[in-house]
Amino acid sequence: MRRLFVNIGSKIQQFYQDWQAVLITCPTVTLITLTINHVGIFQILEWAAYDNFFRLRPPETISPRITIVTIDEADLTELNQWPLSDQTIAQAINIIKAENPRIIALDIYRDLVVEPGRDEIEAVFQTTPNLIGVEKVSGRPVAPPPILAEKGQVALADIVVDPDSKVRRALLSVRRKEGDIQLSLGTKAALQYLEKEGIELTSVPDTNGSTLKLGKAIIKPLRKNDGGYLRADDGGYQILLNYRGVKNVFSKIPLQDLLRNQFAPHLIRDRIVFIGSTAESLNDQFFTPYSSFFNPYPLRTGGVIIHANISSQILAAALEGRPLIKVMPETLEWLWILTWSLIGGMVSWHLVINRDSKFNIFVFLAFLLLSLVMPSLILMGVSYYAFLNGLWVILIAPGFALGVSVLAIPSYQNFALQKLASIDSLTTLHNRRYFDSHFAKLWEQHKEKKSPLSIILCDVDYFKLYNDHYGHPTGDKCLQKVSKGILQAVRKTDLAARFGGEEFIVVLPNSNPAATMQVAQRICEQIRSLKLEHTASQIGDYVTVSCGSASMVPDKSFSRKTLLEKADQALYRAKMEGRNRSYPTP
Ligand code: GH3
Ligand code: MG
Ligand code: MG
Repeated sequence: MRRLFVNIGSKIQQFYQDWQAVLITCPTVTLITLTINHVGIFQILEWAAYDNFFRLRPPETISPRITIVTIDEADLTELNQWPLSDQTIAQAINIIKAENPRIIALDIYRDLVVEPGRDEIEAVFQTTPNLIGVEKVSGRPVAPPPILAEKGQVALADIVVDPDSKVRRALLSVRRKEGDIQLSLGTKAALQYLEKEGIELTSVPDTNGSTLKLGKAIIKPLRKNDGGYLRADDGGYQILLNYRGVKNVFSKIPLQDLLRNQFAPHLIRDRIVFIGSTAESLNDQFFTPYSSFFNPYPLRTGGVIIHANISSQILAAALEGRPLIKVMPETLEWLWILTWSLIGGMVSWHLVINRDSKFNIFVFLAFLLLSLVMPSLILMGVSYYAFLNGLWVILIAPGFALGVSVLAIPSYQNFALQKLASIDSLTTLHNRRYFDSHFAKLWEQHKEKKSPLSIILCDVDYFKLYNDHYGHPTGDKCLQKVSKGILQAVRKTDLAARFGGEEFIVVLPNSNPAATMQVAQRICEQIRSLKLEHTASQIGDYVTVSCGSASMVPDKSFSRKTLLEKADQALYRAKMEGRNRSYPTP
């Protein structure tokens, strides 16, 4: 059993050693990415990526259930009125009514009377139960038409706009101060449409009324940090707006054609008919994910088309199961970022350790292609595919983690190699090479400031006999313990290194002979006190060391070799005089 554990333990250790660069770099990069994400730097880019998916997506067909009576610039010019008079609106509604629409959604404020036509419009409001009027509650509020309000035939015209002025969210409802729930125009129209199909909104048990079921659709409210959002205002009941589109997805009848009775009646029969302005000059215009200077979509979209999109989204989801846009839970998003960091890290690591060709620009480009470009394309493909299936998978944060990991791995590797080149692998003390360059530097510094530099050479006593008696592997372990002992005996400012074989060296900056001697004695005592059994030793039962120390104020007339030679002579003396002791140069 114990063997099994030891086996597993050593396998884990081996795995860690092999993949150390990835295992250290990638979680660190993920943490950095999450921090940057938390600050909100990615939000605008995440939105941009999301918007692009809308524009890339194949266009959808014309809605069979929704028609929009549009009021555009030409209508305004011809009618020469704005706001439209009550008479014009009443006339339009009456024409629509005659063709038996299922719902009429009037996206035009009518809080005040606009003569002429007061009596006509009041009569229409009184006698059209499938008509919905609008009010606005956010920003500068606008009251509803009083008659419709009395009859409960009012919905919200409010549209939620993101900080970058784009509409990506659909407001379904808000809870009024009085406690009742007020639906938005698109929602109310869709729900009334569905009532006739026998489909009603129910809340899913145990969700506190937050998760709703409507026909084939399960609706969940948007939360503050959903998808690419960070601390979004999630007031009211909002969902992500899964646009049908902003161009050629709804049948349109220009108001003039309607008034002239020039339209196909089937466009109205049993449909939701929205009436609203699409005129650029009327300010009821919004930026959407489709807004971009580089594509054929209109830059801004009339509010009525956004309401129509909300209705269309609800209807298609409830009736056909067209996906609503869902998001990943936040913890899954973290894992998603870590995953791409690991992918980048592992590919990069694999390429870095298997690099046998010399570095040149082609090797570098191939490296970037394999580790950065290809995984990025795959990540984009996965995100886009998920989007087509109604899941908003964040793209920028994992892409960032991927890129940083790809580049961090070679840097880490370089750093690790440099560190490795200065460390003795058996004892983890500094190696001879590092000691040499460090000693050279100290020598010059001390020469300049004329202060004493000291070294101590230590050699394990009768170590050949130790090896012969206990075997080489045990000898290795003994050297590891001796190194730890030496480290404990020296001061923070001193540097201990393996000088070679079973010889160690300590360099002590600004240290006079007396202080140096003290440290050397401490080393001998420390090793003795370890009580490492050495029955083959000729001077006792335990492992001991002998030390020789030397101090000198560096000067032009000596080279640093002199100091080493002196320490070596002192060590020789310590050996001669019986070992297990330290000896200074005279
Ligand atoms: P002395 O007291 O005079 O120093 O006697 P000694 O036996 O220690 O003599 P010497 O310093 O010449 O012997 C060095 C021995 O240290 C020889 C070699 O087998 C052993 N040795 C050197 N490097 C290593 C190592 O990395 N691992 C092990 N196990 N033994 C080593
Ligand atoms: Mg030796
Ligand atoms: Mg020795």
